[in-house]
Amino acid sequence: MAPWWLLLPQRCAVCDRPGPALCDACRRSLVLLLPPVCERCGAPGPWPVRRCAECAGRRLSFASARAAVAYDASARRFVRAWKEGGRRDLADEAALLVSQVVQPPATHGVVVPVPSDPERRRARGHAPAESLAEAIASRWGLPAASLLRRARRFERQRGKSAAERRANVRDAFAAARPVQGAICLVDDVYTTGETVASCAGALRRAGARRVDVVCFARVLRAG
Ligand SMILES: [Zn+2]
Ligand SMILES: [Zn+2]
Repeated sequence: MAPWWLLLPQRCAVCDRPGPALCDACRRSLVLLLPPVCERCGAPGPWPVRRCAECAGRRLSFASARAAVAYDASARRFVRAWKEGGRRDLADEAALLVSQVVQPPATHGVVVPVPSDPERRRARGHAPAESLAEAIASRWGLPAASLLRRARRFERQRGKSAAERRANVRDAFAAARPVQGAICLVDDVYTTGETVASCAGALRRAGARRVDVVCFARVLRAG
């Protein structure tokens, strides 16, 4: 008799073998970003710090950022299958990993996604950050709401330096309505933090008391 997983129509997002959406071997290959991490931006380090080399001296409008896994080759394949490969089922896998690695914000805020580009959303047939926010909110028992919109068009962040990224998304987001209390802002990948910082700024200007960022994967810098 065929193994049970051969009866499943799906494949592992990382190794592409038939079976669960993320097989055990590939799940184990992901690098979990467990403490110690930088208190502010979530970069892993040898001991806990309040600010690290990556975020020291930067004006960041979020109180903290955390992610579940390092954005390495395995995580990149996962994210590509999820975002570009139409694998909307992977939002739940990503949320599961987030809930296993990241503590829910003590402030118990509303879970808000970084809003997607309407054109890319149409092309992909789904909006990864929105689905991730909903899946995380349901695992943490918190409300989810799409409180942000894109205030203007901007280019993709890919391939840009940190300074270019900051300029590219400056004032690019706006709150759809006045905001109260604490917000847990969700995105799929944290690269330099400029996109979530711009979103957090918009939420703060709209009245949010505090914004904590949660992402699925995080780019790690050397040194
Ligand atoms: Zn696999
Ligand atoms: Zn840091």
